[in-house]
Amino acid sequence: MEMFELLKRIYPLRLAPVSADADKTVQILLEELPFFVHKYPSLSEHNGWTVPYSWEVKKAEIRKNNKLIYNGLKHPLGVMGYAKSFKGKVSLSELKQHISFRKDLPDAIGYHCDYYYKPWRSDWGFSAPYTLFKKLKSGEYDIDLKTEYKKGTMKVLDYLLKGEKEDIIFLNAHDCHAAQANDDISGVVVAIEVMKTLKKRKKRKYSYKLIIAPEHLGTIFYLANTPDREVKKFKYGMFLEMLGNNNRFALQQSFNGDSLIDKAAHIYFKHNFPDYYSDKFRKIVGNDETVWESPGYEIPCISLSRAPYSQYHSNLDNEKIINEDKLKESVNTVLGIIDILETDTRMTRNFKGLMALSNPKYDLYIHTIDPSIRLTISKEQRKWNYLMDCVIRYFDGKQTISDIALKHDIDYFKLLDYLRKFEKKGLINFID
Ligand SMILES: [Zn+2]
Repeated sequence: MEMFELLKRIYPLRLAPVSADADKTVQILLEELPFFVHKYPSLSEHNGWTVPYSWEVKKAEIRKNNKLIYNGLKHPLGVMGYAKSFKGKVSLSELKQHISFRKDLPDAIGYHCDYYYKPWRSDWGFSAPYTLFKKLKSGEYDIDLKTEYKKGTMKVLDYLLKGEKEDIIFLNAHDCHAAQANDDISGVVVAIEVMKTLKKRKKRKYSYKLIIAPEHLGTIFYLANTPDREVKKFKYGMFLEMLGNNNRFALQQSFNGDSLIDKAAHIYFKHNFPDYYSDKFRKIVGNDETVWESPGYEIPCISLSRAPYSQYHSNLDNEKIINEDKLKESVNTVLGIIDILETDTRMTRNFKGLMALSNPKYDLYIHTIDPSIRLTISKEQRKWNYLMDCVIRYFDGKQTISDIALKHDIDYFKLLDYLRKFEKKGLINFID
């Protein structure tokens, strides 16, 4: 299914770490790729994290003098996620303590998810527009909030595409936020499209795995239940989220910020989206990169998004803010970074001494005007001229194409094309 169509099918659902609609989403996603479905039963515990019960809202009414003031069932965000039931009369001041709102988005309903992660704190509560909250008058209110907790299983989907190496580059997106299009069904559909494209390729150096899971909880239980020999195969990862809104890209670096995937992403963005924004681990978004990077795993995980956006964690994060072209651009960007990882290699040479690159026999000289009058040539040409002065020293079996691209501030793929010509002439060998 087209990315935007798939997004529109999933995001309006009453998603949660465990819910009937979370299960429905699994069925929808299985139509896209043959995922393996991992199941973790409610109340399973790991490091103090607990798999929640399957949670549904049955009734969610606030009445005054028998008049319905608010029906929290009207929108999937109308009741605080994982809230308890409550039936009874309360004063205005007590009611106000049980309403979550967004002052910055006064007409919107906010997404409240805290109780999924801290079930021991769970209470009854509604999410409602601030405008409604402000209008509430003193007096007595009748609350009829009925929620249901049932035993269920949290589902984590994974799909592996094998490559020449067992080393895995993983993509991760979350599917647990009710009615949130950009955060993160956009990441889910982009990741699926990337995997579909990679699947069509005849040759892949790395293996690729897509993991779609409830945020934090899903990946925590997934990693805890994956044998060490399998965990060892995960080399680098990308968390994908908020990729459909109209904004420039944001690249959040891995914990150490110096891994090969950090480097590949910077190289790609610099020459394709120079307006991209980048910052350190957890300085832009907070997702499952904390799980992948946690002690004992420490798998470098960057995060790609288009954060921030004003509709974040509210009912305004819907299909109206999703731009199909941005979804496609995101797919191409993830593939661009992957293509750098796929082709990056060290090189060895089959010659000694200075080569006459311009000899038609080699035809490896990039002709500009007379290099002795360099002042008149463009900045770009100047970079290439300098590269030609240095390039033959880089075939030492140590430096990689990405090292050279960074050092010379040259587009990786143009450089790759140039080096492939050396290889075709039999002057060098790609060794990785
Ligand atoms: Zn979120």
